[in-house]
Amino acid sequence: MIVVLLGPPGSGKGTQGERVAAALGVPKISTGDVLRAAAQAGTSLGLAAKAFMDRGDLVPDPVILGIMKEALSAPEQARGVVLDGVVRTVPQAEGLARVAAEIGKQVDVILLFDIDDELLVARLSARATCAACHSPVAGRQPGEVHAECTASPKGMLVRRADDEPDAIRNRLRVYKAQTEPVVAWYRTHGGNVQAIDAAGSFEDVAQRALAAVGVVGR
Ligand code: AMP
Repeated sequence: MIVVLLGPPGSGKGTQGERVAAALGVPKISTGDVLRAAAQAGTSLGLAAKAFMDRGDLVPDPVILGIMKEALSAPEQARGVVLDGVVRTVPQAEGLARVAAEIGKQVDVILLFDIDDELLVARLSARATCAACHSPVAGRQPGEVHAECTASPKGMLVRRADDEPDAIRNRLRVYKAQTEPVVAWYRTHGGNVQAIDAAGSFEDVAQRALAAVGVVGR
């Protein structure tokens, strides 16, 4: 099963995506995580992507299509995959449909995390991220050790450059201009778009997301 997570930054799609992937028993791939790891490793792809990411702009489509292709053809993804932040423009949606068809698959569900802008800005401004395991952590200060980190040694909490207020505003603008049309594209191309109310407790939103992919009560 291929599940695409769509929703603005801060809508919780990454965290909920982990839960959905675990319930389905498939991996989750986040292009943001792939690009951040490449930037940290100092590869040429990572360094080229970093400037776009720090401003909150999108990395060019050809780079993302390359990551998508590699991710979908990996053997670990044979049973399916949850794609987080992977489709952000109409050309990427077209590219994903093409790459999936080449390996005899299709996008089965598009989970759309629906949430109010003001709640998003508040969530993103209050979010820290672990420098080692990259998990977002709500309500904790950069500079603290991430006590729940799964890496060894445990990582420090940092503020992502793109969680600064100007970059947050830019990311929301970019989402409306470039990613919202993706929802319309899926709807007009027969995509199974499941809109989820992403406000509320983690558990409530998780149950809505799981029900939308056909998993109940986990
Ligand atoms: P995320 O972690 O999903 O919020 O992504 C962080 C940043 O990585 C985005 O603001 C973009 O700069 C870049 N990025 C991640 N995925 C994509 C994508 N599918 N297309 C273009 N840029 C992306």
